[in-house]
Amino acid sequence: MHCPFCNADDTKVMDSRLAAEGAQVRRRRQCAACGERFTTFEVCEVVMPRIIKSSGRIEPYDQSKLRRSIALPLQKRPISADEIEASISRIEQALRKTGEREVTSKVLGEIVMSALKSLDDVAYVRFASVYRDFQDISEFRAELDKINLPKQGEGL
Ligand SMILES: [Zn+2]
Repeated sequence: MHCPFCNADDTKVMDSRLAAEGAQVRRRRQCAACGERFTTFEVCEVVMPRIIKSSGRIEPYDQSKLRRSIALPLQKRPISADEIEASISRIEQALRKTGEREVTSKVLGEIVMSALKSLDDVAYVRFASVYRDFQDISEFRAELDKINLPKQGEGL
């Protein structure tokens, strides 16, 4: 990398460390010509698969949309913002791990469901009741019976 101060070609990495919980590598560099130090950040180029809607339309993956759709079932649940962000990261990891350029919204829904399941039982069932086509009502009942339902008025 060129020195941003004198434009010399030769800069040395003095120190490398992980930043942003391992999502970045931070490097301290020093120019061999002028001796100035500077910092660079290395991040992974994130390629997310596109989402095939049930209508057949293909949309780019939208993180804010995902955040909104899991915020709703998590309403009034004792889950911190950090836990929600970590969950979004795991969902995105799982999406990338499919290795597909395009995934159906159904596949995304399944990934979101399994993330919510490990995060919060109530949020999971709230989400599942909207997104999953339960094979029959007894399957849905079985899911409901597994969890402690919120008190009336809290809404499900
Ligand atoms: Zn320099």
